[in-house]
Amino acid sequence: MTHDRAVLKAREIASNVLAPAAEQNDAAGRFSTEAVQSLGESGLLGLLLPTDLGGAGLGPRTFAAVTATVAEEDASVAMVYVMHVLGAASMSAARQSAAPAVKPILQEIAAGRHLSTLAFSEAGSRSHFWAPISRAHRNGDGVHITAKKSWVTSAGYAHSYIVSALAPEGAGPTDSTLYLVSAGTRGLSVAGPWDGLGLRANASAPIVLDDCHVPPDFQLTDDGAGFPAMLNVVLPLFNLGTAAVALGLCRAAVTGTTSHLKNAKFEHLGQSLGESLPTLRAQLATMQIETDGLSARIDDLIDHLEKPRETTMLRVLETKAAAGEVAISVTSAAMRICGGAAFSKHLNIERLFRDAHAGAVMAPTGDVLREFIGKSLLGIPLFS
Ligand SMILES: Cc1cc2nc3c(=O)[nH]c(=O)nc-3n(C[C@H](O)[C@H](O)[C@H](O)COP(=O)(O)OP(=O)(O)OC[C@H]3O[C@@H](n4cnc5c(N)ncnc54)[C@H](O)[C@@H]3O)c2cc1C
Repeated sequence: MTHDRAVLKAREIASNVLAPAAEQNDAAGRFSTEAVQSLGESGLLGLLLPTDLGGAGLGPRTFAAVTATVAEEDASVAMVYVMHVLGAASMSAARQSAAPAVKPILQEIAAGRHLSTLAFSEAGSRSHFWAPISRAHRNGDGVHITAKKSWVTSAGYAHSYIVSALAPEGAGPTDSTLYLVSAGTRGLSVAGPWDGLGLRANASAPIVLDDCHVPPDFQLTDDGAGFPAMLNVVLPLFNLGTAAVALGLCRAAVTGTTSHLKNAKFEHLGQSLGESLPTLRAQLATMQIETDGLSARIDDLIDHLEKPRETTMLRVLETKAAAGEVAISVTSAAMRICGGAAFSKHLNIERLFRDAHAGAVMAPTGDVLREFIGKSLLGIPLFS
């Protein structure tokens, strides 16, 4: 698989599978198993996995392009994809002793038959996912975990969950460990419905782990090494992925608004809205400028991830913070420009507007990212 082939496949799925169903799935809050099946059949679920496991062996550039393409038609599915890619990356980076147990799962992912996700956020520590309240307890053979995970994308649909918990002997609030918990594990259950304002079709419901047993083979990091894995493996790809979702939403908003300005008419004036009103043209132009600015920012982050340097972590933090704001700004402008037609749901703009509000809320939230950026500029420790 090449970069271009992966993006082409994403485009085909977006037009043939996502576009026809996105509106109904959003209205019903329905998780699209068809979308996951198409992503699997096309080889996109194993996009970043090494080729010797059957993966596509591609990198962040293709991940961002595929995610943005999917998000243009359905941001719920795009976020399912992002969380899956992060789950797969966490398994791929597993410590050596877990590698034999994880390998067949990675092969299943590459074959398109396994969906994963992250279960980090907890009811107790809310958006501070780096500080789980739950603690793993040793029981001779592996550990037992009891935890309340507050939002888990693909809850009830994923085949595996990457779960964080404090290490059995962890002394500090970030001394966590990452575990792989299979969906069928006794004690794991979906704890409530998902009825969000946006991303309604991605089943981001709470799950509980009630004394779940995790065998030693499924401990993905050393004790207490969950936190560095979150920072080094998960955070860069998560921030890139959510920024790509934001970009897809912005592009869709520009497309939808342009189409409305061309097609909606002032019949008494004999002109389209776009021909008639320079103010609307100027606002559309601002949407385009902001969208292309986000695209350039994402390209810059990709360059930093491909060629890591001193400023890479700053870019990782900045890009998600900026993307969250841009998505809200561009889709809000679309709502204003398209007026009553958008407000009364005659266009898909209001779905884009609702979906765009998730990015800034998802941890690390836009506020927390600003805290981190400000602290790092001032040389203040981030987690003090
Ligand atoms: C659609 C969706 C899907 C999700 N999927 C997953 C998933 O798959 N896995 C997972 O683990 N989690 C997931 N989450 C959870 C998400 O990542 C956040 O943990 C959660 O949304 C934060 O909840 P909260 O607003 O209650 O947090 P709170 O911590 O209560 O935040 C409330 C407000 O305080 C601000 N705030 C908090 N701390 C600071 C600070 N230090 N400085 C400044 N401001 C601060 C926040 O920005 C926010 O505005 C998902 C959430 C959503 C909405």
